[in-house]
Amino acid sequence: MEKIDLTKPVLVTGATGYVAGRLVEKLLAEGATIHAPVRSPDNKEKTKYLDELADKSSGSIKYFKADLLDEGSYDEAMKGCELVFHTASPFSLNVEDPQKDLVDPALKGTRNVLEAANRSESVKRVVLTSSCAAIYGDAKDTLDMPNQTLTEEIWNTTSSLDHQPYSYSKTVAEKEAWKIANAQDQWKLVTINPSFVVGPGINPHATSESFEIMKQVGRGDFKMGAPEFNIGCVDVRDLANAHFLAGTKPDAEGRHIISAHNSSFMEIAAIIKEAYPNYPIATRKLPKFLLWLIAPSVGMTRKMVAKNIGYPWKADNSKSVQQLGVTYRPMKETIIEFFDQLVNAGVIEKK
Ligand code: NAP
Repeated sequence: MEKIDLTKPVLVTGATGYVAGRLVEKLLAEGATIHAPVRSPDNKEKTKYLDELADKSSGSIKYFKADLLDEGSYDEAMKGCELVFHTASPFSLNVEDPQKDLVDPALKGTRNVLEAANRSESVKRVVLTSSCAAIYGDAKDTLDMPNQTLTEEIWNTTSSLDHQPYSYSKTVAEKEAWKIANAQDQWKLVTINPSFVVGPGINPHATSESFEIMKQVGRGDFKMGAPEFNIGCVDVRDLANAHFLAGTKPDAEGRHIISAHNSSFMEIAAIIKEAYPNYPIATRKLPKFLLWLIAPSVGMTRKMVAKNIGYPWKADNSKSVQQLGVTYRPMKETIIEFFDQLVNAGVIEKK
């Protein structure tokens, strides 16, 4: 059981992203030196939130230029690192070219980062941010699972370039990661498989799909009714802690479902409506056939509606609690703090 030395630099890919922001915050608070390979190290609009955190902490952050698609571009940043967090991967449900926009950066990026770990002499552990999307494709898939419950043993077999391409990108990337990890014995791979991530990030203007969905709710896109879309949710700050534990606990191993609550779009809408009664948010159920009709105008395909609306969603998070020691905060707190942040930052119009 190897011990990770946090006085050595820690590499975080995708540090400018929503999920990674809270992880960097946690690492800085522990006094770590972060190596942050990013696409645009000179874009202060993107790095200023991280710089502010570094200034207030005993840790520090150093930027490097790298792109998931550029072979060898992570080598420089990886020098001297024992611990690598690979979070970078596009999270978008609406893309023009799924191969180019999702699968290439997810798959080639994972290969690039892990091959850089192989070339390094220092890396001992890689924590990969995968997803529950690598476990299931559509909510309907859960009907065939033991106890109709997602577990770490299950893999997504139903997504493709044509249907749920984001989920497909996460599945092929995680599979590739295990293949590369199992072919060497210098470093250990641990994966984090979060459900839908919510809660205030360090940057209220982040571009993650998590923000798009809150904006849709705030704008009133679902004022006719809330879809019966069951999902799991986890707070971004609890997820950061889960990453940290996966990186530092000597006995951490394998995949980890990181999901606090088996929830639903309707529950999220009801929490927001109670706290913000002035917003055009419906808490009644939107009939499935209506959503099927309007699907393309709300960024969904009709096949997505058919296979995801009205099905149960249940995940077993016991490994994260018992083996990693993750604790989860109440969902209501997360959702209200998230909505508050977006309203206060002007991302969602004040009403
Ligand atoms: P995000 O805010 O969009 O972050 C994605 C990060 O990936 C950004 O830092 C982005 O860099 C980077 N990236 C994208 N394409 C790149 C490229 N070609 N080269 C280098 N970097 C690139 O999304 P997020 O929600 O934080 O997602 C982070 C991770 O969590 C992803 O692996 C995602 O699949 C996973 N995840 C997210 C959720 C969720 O609900 N949010 C759930 C499960 C898993 P730029 O800043 O330069 O764009």
